[in-house]
Amino acid sequence: MRVLEYIGTRELRWRDVPDARVVDPGDAVVRPVAATTCDLDRAVIAGRTPFPAPLQLGHECVAEVVEVGDEVSGLVAGDLVVVPWHISCGTCATCSAGAPSRCLSVPRYAMFGLPLGGAWGGLFSELVRVPWAAANLVKLPHGAEPEAFASASDNLTDAYAASSRDRRTRLVRRCSCSVAPASGCTPARSPVR
Ligand SMILES: [Zn+2]
Ligand SMILES: [Zn+2]
Repeated sequence: MRVLEYIGTRELRWRDVPDARVVDPGDAVVRPVAATTCDLDRAVIAGRTPFPAPLQLGHECVAEVVEVGDEVSGLVAGDLVVVPWHISCGTCATCSAGAPSRCLSVPRYAMFGLPLGGAWGGLFSELVRVPWAAANLVKLPHGAEPEAFASASDNLTDAYAASSRDRRTRLVRRCSCSVAPASGCTPARSPVR
């Protein structure tokens, strides 16, 4: 399969890598069918971030489920899903409290498309492995237009974090982020109120 990588200022390339596959029984493998770019992608490509190359890009997409692990419920091959940018387990204390962007089972800011909490790959790829698929993927209704929902991966998850009752996920008032002010991408550098 191919993945889109940032390899230096204003330089991108498609690179061949082994196909994504189910590794753990809670995984799904999905095929992105509609993806959108974020302001942060533009900053990375322009060389305005500290993230080193090479870097697999993409954290907003709608995808088709290709395969699910034995423990994944509620999803089958062929389903159309939104793939949220942040990765969470769905069962730890903070996930259970409704704050999946602060999941305790992964490094903070674990996400697709940026190397903030480990290397999870990017969504500008032909295939993507999604851990804890039942918790992370959001199934779309039959007939939904993928292009209409692709940016929900980031925009709606950020809005949720900003409006969450969990004080730690509330809107960052003075954010240096070049993305949405409530984005989970950068609050580590900003005072949380
Ligand atoms: Zn973003
Ligand atoms: Zn969790």
